[in-house]
Amino acid sequence: MYKFFLRKKIGERIIGGHPWIFGNELGDHQGEPQPGDIVEVYSYNGSFVGKGYYNPASQIRIRLLTRHKEEEINDDFFYNRIKEAWEYRQQIGYVENCRLVFGEADQLPALIIDKFNDYFVIQTLALGIEKWKDAIVSAIQKIFSPKGIYERNDVPVRELEGLAQQKGFLSAPFDTNIIINENGLKFHVDIENGQKTGYFLDQQDNRRAIQHIVKDADVLEAFCYTGTFSLHAAKYGAKQVLGLDISENAVTTARSNAELNGYADRCKFQAVNAFDVLKQWVKDGKRYDVVMLDPPAFTKSRENIEKAVTGYKEINLRGMKLTKPGGFLVTASCTNLVPPAMFLDIISAAAKDAKRSLRQVTWQTQASDHPILWNIPTTQYLKFLIVQVL
Ligand code: SAH
Repeated sequence: MYKFFLRKKIGERIIGGHPWIFGNELGDHQGEPQPGDIVEVYSYNGSFVGKGYYNPASQIRIRLLTRHKEEEINDDFFYNRIKEAWEYRQQIGYVENCRLVFGEADQLPALIIDKFNDYFVIQTLALGIEKWKDAIVSAIQKIFSPKGIYERNDVPVRELEGLAQQKGFLSAPFDTNIIINENGLKFHVDIENGQKTGYFLDQQDNRRAIQHIVKDADVLEAFCYTGTFSLHAAKYGAKQVLGLDISENAVTTARSNAELNGYADRCKFQAVNAFDVLKQWVKDGKRYDVVMLDPPAFTKSRENIEKAVTGYKEINLRGMKLTKPGGFLVTASCTNLVPPAMFLDIISAAAKDAKRSLRQVTWQTQASDHPILWNIPTTQYLKFLIVQVL
């Protein structure tokens, strides 16, 4: 077995439960592992820390899979971890769709598995987990006897690990346009070409949170993707809903979703740039009872955090200006680079500029099938806020 030793004075974060070990945290090692091999990690003074996979090409040199020395990393290990992840989701109330495995939060670093009823979409985002893809697929086969498994590894982060971007079937081919049920609505999900894994499961609990504020309301949703919040608004009694997204494909699917649920008369969608349109509509004096915003991350790196702050502030400022006095703003941010307190500061600054005061209705995070581990702060990434704009 290959052994790596942490440097002196390194270890508090790792021993506290964080599974990542960076190159500059490592001192001596014994043996010459191949990229992706399983290695053992010890503290400077030689006590066992854990076992994980190794990649010399990645800044995150080792990601720990277990803290138990006797636990073997083999096919059974992955079967057991995935089974445990499913049992946990069931225990907290998920039945049909869920993020079955949320990487680090399920002690399976860099592995994402989304379950859309009988279909599974997986991402293996590091070399060391990619090596176990067959074991992961066969565990899913064994536990669920699924109708299909698909790989959405067309993500740039894989390149940091020396991995190519790719997507395709990991089971016999199947029709990748599926329909899922959520909160009593039906949604088309395009597993092959949709954004990320095809659908944003992380907002599934939050979509229910708009239930009481949209009744008889005139609703605007910007960054609507396939119209999920818009359709919830229609279901909960909105008078009319307009959803905006820059992607023609997303808007086409949003319209199909409106048809599918019988709300095409009340839900309309337009393919536009929300930044331009919202700015214009503020000037034009348009006003809505409810404005919903779920913009993209704006930045992927800490160095560009200012870009995200500016983007969130600008769009929320416009959203508030478009909200009638006493109306509601529903706003979200999906990057862990903007922590919750910073997001609230941005919203507060936007309110000041808009000369509006806010009354908080609810302040939430990602759905509970994306667990937050308190010793891995980046597992909390989604912020979801509803405020009344006075
Ligand atoms: N609320 C959605 C997810 C939104 S993801 C859901 O729960 O399913 C963010 C969306 O913003 C993406 O669909 C993306 O196409 C869209 N987008 C990105 N930049 C945009 C812009 N400038 N104007 C409008 N939409 C934009």
